[in-house]
Amino acid sequence: MAADRRPLLTLDDALARLLAGAAAHAVAGRETVSTFDALGRVLAAPVPSLLDVPPADNTSMDGYAVCAADVAAAGTVLPVAQRIPAGVVGQPLARGTAARIFTGAQVPPGADAVVMQEQCEALPAERGEGLGAVRINGVPQAGQWIRRRGEDVQHGATVLQPGTRLTPQALGLAASVGAAELAVCRRPRVALFSTGDELAMPGQPLKPGAIYNSNRFTLRALLQAAGCEVNDLGIVPDRLDATVDALRRAAEGNDLILTCGGVSGGDEDHVRPAVESLGWIEHWQLAIKPGKPLAYGGVRRSAPAVGGVRGAEADNALFIGLPGNPVSSFVNFLLAVAPVLRVMQGGAGALPAGLAMRADFDWPRPDKRREFLRARLNGAGGLDLFPNQSSGVLTSAVWADGLVDNPAGQAIRRGDGVRFLPFAELIGR
Ligand code: AMP
Ligand code: MG
Repeated sequence: MAADRRPLLTLDDALARLLAGAAAHAVAGRETVSTFDALGRVLAAPVPSLLDVPPADNTSMDGYAVCAADVAAAGTVLPVAQRIPAGVVGQPLARGTAARIFTGAQVPPGADAVVMQEQCEALPAERGEGLGAVRINGVPQAGQWIRRRGEDVQHGATVLQPGTRLTPQALGLAASVGAAELAVCRRPRVALFSTGDELAMPGQPLKPGAIYNSNRFTLRALLQAAGCEVNDLGIVPDRLDATVDALRRAAEGNDLILTCGGVSGGDEDHVRPAVESLGWIEHWQLAIKPGKPLAYGGVRRSAPAVGGVRGAEADNALFIGLPGNPVSSFVNFLLAVAPVLRVMQGGAGALPAGLAMRADFDWPRPDKRREFLRARLNGAGGLDLFPNQSSGVLTSAVWADGLVDNPAGQAIRRGDGVRFLPFAELIGR
């Protein structure tokens, strides 16, 4: 095969193209799900608060609610007039008295401070009657240990914006304002298949020449982390008719078709002619390492999707073909596919800003392409580099915490500043 002399496409240009396609394939449907089941989903509507959180001033300590002006000196003794556990609303506090109070209970009107029980001495009631008294071994400041009404969320505020991916803490926040259900974007439906006659599944014996299909696991899990419904079509043999058949099935009812392998342009690579016969495909050479070959296109559907996509592209499933090398497909997913999936769900496509970090390694022979190096945070506030940066070495992606985004041709000397993209920021944002 003749060498491909087309100029390389920058990642930014590729992303601009991909995100325009993703916007045209934005998932139109939304659904209402229980807040219990909304982890990882993308919000389709704002979540407003119709209440203050907390709803009233309350104590953050077990102790005694007092009027600070009643305790001018350490050792002051006050009669205990009432007992207020969490969930009970007390009576107004009379001047010169204290209320026994427990964490989370509303502070009664008239009290303006809580003294933690560690600074108090309970004095038993005479003849066992009443609640006794308390000696306060400190001088309270007005306001101490009181959580103010609305200090977390104010009535009328929007606590979560549309486009937000729902993290565990976001679910808690939604619940704290009383949202039992949330409007979320329909999950993008993604068909996934791997090409390659050398691929075997774990659990099967490995014949000579075979390798296990690791990408199927990595990509499927990445798709799940990105909030997708995965339709896994398994392994497709390196034959044109089989690839066409798989693509036809993949286009029906799916928003995106994601494949891995078979896009390098070799004689055994059938993805390109197969996609071409059912739609259109562009075969990109990205100016990045790893992850140079990437295919982008569309596959016609015979029947329009039900409740599917909107716009002129509606009768096409989006197509992205990833390279087969495990690190290449992983990195390409993070840099190119994850942003597409975010935009399809109404979120932002931009890559994370990353962190300015110190390189605790040398990288004397940079590539002509922009590199994404597998690196790990060390205890000294810098980054270590995985020694083998080959695109076949998946161990690097497990060892690492993220990618150093190194500009084309830039050598790195120990101590230099570099831009670091943590995996946590790239996956499932
Ligand atoms: P290809 O892109 O099909 O030319 O494959 C490039 C390299 O990635 C070859 O060494 C393949 O054996 C390997 N590869 C392809 N698909 C997978 C897969 N699903 N899992 C692991 N390695 C793969
Ligand atoms: Mg192959």
